[in-house]
This record gives sequence, C-alpha cells and structure tokens, in this order.
Amino acid sequence: PPDRDVVLAAVDVVREFGGLRAVAGVSLTVRRGTLTGLIGPNGAGKSTLLAMLAGTLTVTAGQIRYQGHDVTGLPAYRRARLGLIRTFQLASEFKKLTVMENLLSAVPGHRGDSLRGALAGPRHWRGDEDAAIARAVALLERFGLEAHANSYAGDLSGGQRRLVEIMRALMAEPQVLLLDEPMAGVHPNLARVIGGELVALAAGGLTVLMVEHELAIMDEFCDPVVAMAEGIVLAQGTMAELRRRSDVVEAYLVG
Ligand code: ADP
Ligand code: MG
Repeated sequence: PPDRDVVLAAVDVVREFGGLRAVAGVSLTVRRGTLTGLIGPNGAGKSTLLAMLAGTLTVTAGQIRYQGHDVTGLPAYRRARLGLIRTFQLASEFKKLTVMENLLSAVPGHRGDSLRGALAGPRHWRGDEDAAIARAVALLERFGLEAHANSYAGDLSGGQRRLVEIMRALMAEPQVLLLDEPMAGVHPNLARVIGGELVALAAGGLTVLMVEHELAIMDEFCDPVVAMAEGIVLAQGTMAELRRRSDVVEAYLVG
C-alpha cells in the first residue's frame, strides 16, 4: 500500500543533457511536514532534480509522484495549482514593483496576477483580494519585512530579495515548497531567520525540500538530509548519520 506520509517522490529519475547524465537514476521520498535537505558538491545534479520535481524540466526517464499521483507529465504551472511550488529568482520587471505588489501578484487567479492589476495600486484591488492582502501582511510580519512593504523590490538587499522570492511562493499556499539554495549570498543572521521560519512552517504542516551548500545550515534546520554526488543519491539520513558516511564526506571534500 502507498505510504500516505510520503508527499513527494522521485522514482528512478534520469535527466540527460546531450551525452551527460546530470541525474543518473535517483529515487527519493519526501515525507509530509519535514524540512528535508538536499546536499552535494557542485554539479551533483541537485538543481536538475529539483527542477524535475517542480516540472520546470522534463525527465529523460522515471517518474515524479506527488500526493500519491503520477505528475511526471504535468507542466510546472499545473503542479503549482496542486500545491507543489518552487521559488523563482525575481524577474527584472518585478524589481520595479513594491514588495506588497510582488506578493499580491503571486496569488493565482487574482487580478493581481497580472502586472497591470498589481500596478493599479491598493485603491483598485478588488474586495476579494482582502484575503490576499491579509496573507501578505502576515508573511511580511513573519519574515520581518513589514517596514519594506512599500519599498521597490529592486531597492532591497540581495538577502531581502531572496525573502521576497520565498514569500511569493508562500502566497500561493503551497503544500510542498521547493527551494534551490535560498540562503546563498544571504547574511548569516538573515539565513538563520529564514531557517527558523521554515522550521515553523514545517511544524504547521508545510513540507519543504531545500538545496543548500552550507552544512551548518543543514545541521541546524534539516532532517532528513539527502546527499547526492555525480547524479546519484549516496545516502539519506540525519546530518549526524551522513557525517559518518565516508563516501558522503569524500564527495564533499573532493567536490
Ligand atoms: P548542482 O545543482 O548539484 O550544482 P546541476 O543540477 O546544476 O548541479 O548540474 C548537474 C550537471 O548537469 C552539471 O554537470 C551541469 O553542468 C549539467 N547541466 C545542468 N543544467 C544543464 C543544461 N541546461 N544543459 C547542459 N548541462 C546542464
Ligand atoms: Mg544547483
């Protein structure tokens, strides 16, 4: 019988680029309500795997399963509607929007979905966007960005922009959130705020799968952690368990 705690799974997934096997047969399960980490040296295939889970990249072979269903053939926007959502770097046009406009424009099906709707400003937002506004305000408070609600995204620090990317994904009320190095280039203090909030969100039932290069972050926030190298999964376990695996340690030191 299917394991109902497994919310997302890759089954023997392969991705080739020309002759290169970036992901060479990966199976992995992500359990509901966990903050699961994904580590591995540069080129291990982490981003490729994450993109296949999100549907922004097709698989060469294998299956992606979400909430017990085969979603391999679904494009990313259809998976997103089902609650499987990844973050995206803020496109340049979004840097000309305020933080609040960025958040409201991330809500699917709302008028704020269109750039014009968001740009029209608060006086023009429909009543049914009140819920979205309340959600945006709660997220701004949660991540300590409330003072920046009306700042242009382009005027924020790099770390604050990463926060906006995460908050945009959270506006769509994901069941599963996929993050590719959300703390890269972020000041350590802010990185710890992000980690702490992700833990709190996971305690509330959100499932997070996060690629991260910094092992200290994994130690503190992620359990379990999946270790990849050269397109395959070496091991899955707690960071303490992974540190006892010589193949994982070697992949990191050599890679
Ligand atoms: P990681 O995120 O673990 O650093 P990636 O998934 O980005 O690794 O890359 C895995 C391998 O696939 C690397 O050798 C990389 O050069 C290659 N690769 C990734 N994306 C592409 C692409 N679009 N075209 C060709 N090769 C790619
Ligand atoms: Mg990567």
